[in-house]
Amino acid sequence: MSFPEDPRLIEAKAIPMTEMVDRLGIAGLKRMANEMVGPCPLCGGRDRFGINLRSNAFLCRKCDLRGGDQIALAMGVLNLDFKGALSWLCGDQPAELDPREVERRRQLAAEAERKQREEADRYRRRAVSDARLIWKKARPGRLGVVRAYLLARGITSDMLPEIPEALRFIVDHPYVKKVGREYVTAHRGPCMVAGILSPAGELTAVHQTWVDRAPPHGKARISLEGESLPAKLVRGSKKSGAIRLLTPKGADTLVMGEGVETTLTAMAAQPFANAAYWAGVDLGNMAGRMQRVKGRRYSGLPDMSDADAFVPPLWVKRLVFIMDGDSDPKMTRAKLECGLRRAMALNPGLQGQIVHAGAGVDLNDVLMDGAPDGEGCDD
Ligand SMILES: [Zn+2]
Repeated sequence: MSFPEDPRLIEAKAIPMTEMVDRLGIAGLKRMANEMVGPCPLCGGRDRFGINLRSNAFLCRKCDLRGGDQIALAMGVLNLDFKGALSWLCGDQPAELDPREVERRRQLAAEAERKQREEADRYRRRAVSDARLIWKKARPGRLGVVRAYLLARGITSDMLPEIPEALRFIVDHPYVKKVGREYVTAHRGPCMVAGILSPAGELTAVHQTWVDRAPPHGKARISLEGESLPAKLVRGSKKSGAIRLLTPKGADTLVMGEGVETTLTAMAAQPFANAAYWAGVDLGNMAGRMQRVKGRRYSGLPDMSDADAFVPPLWVKRLVFIMDGDSDPKMTRAKLECGLRRAMALNPGLQGQIVHAGAGVDLNDVLMDGAPDGEGCDD
């Protein structure tokens, strides 16, 4: 057997990221669940730098230092090229390496990868079981705070005579955030809970929106130690899932926005006959992984090896994505096209369509008279 690659690559990728942090002298990172978070080793950005210990991806949200493995981290922090980083990590390449040693290193790397996968599985199972407990605790949306919240977002009872079963509520729901090793309740209060169903129709996640107790019952303002937190949180495994707001019998069209509010607003306007209305939870889920094409920032082409993206059921002959105008329009458009092309590739004959209400306003915002949605950010 020949060596298809430098054996030091395997060695480098088997170094635990926690050890990398020590070796590179990155100081001040705190362990939070499966992440290490703290000051950026390059720009010093406070709490802007994080390393995901399951995927080995790292990112600074300030200076955009980013990458996906040990070598990239060494390159970024030490300002080395690839060869330099590899030598720094594993020494200069030995003239010849004993094949048994290569095999041993391969096995070590495989074992490390298996452990990582197992931990990710365990984490996912726990998240899904949490989501199911929250869903069980929640009561039908028509009985509680959901109506008031939707009204505050411009969706009246005339527009939406019946609250969809996918929307429930909890009167006093804790907003829990993990800080270091501790769980801190940053807020408690009424919460709209939307069920996220997997393609098989099983509840695998919940989308939670904390609602302000005081009128007009918009999104709650939540902060922890002076830092404001989003009023919306997903618990569970949302991948490939959707919030199924309305699925009439015989539907052949699926209209999908990112959020519940946008999708309900479209639903009230009834722009399409025989249409189901589902919320896609987030753009990443609707788009799936995008192909990287040299020279183009966003290719709009789906990476078909991504098994975690949303794919519409086979009865969908027309898939309509609603474009929220409040984020970077080029990126948003490319992502939506990516998702539509994925669906069209998997379901020949399916027609994809993007509808939007112009730059800077989403469908919900139009209804709200163009008022910007300034309360916290969506997840
Ligand atoms: Zn930085």
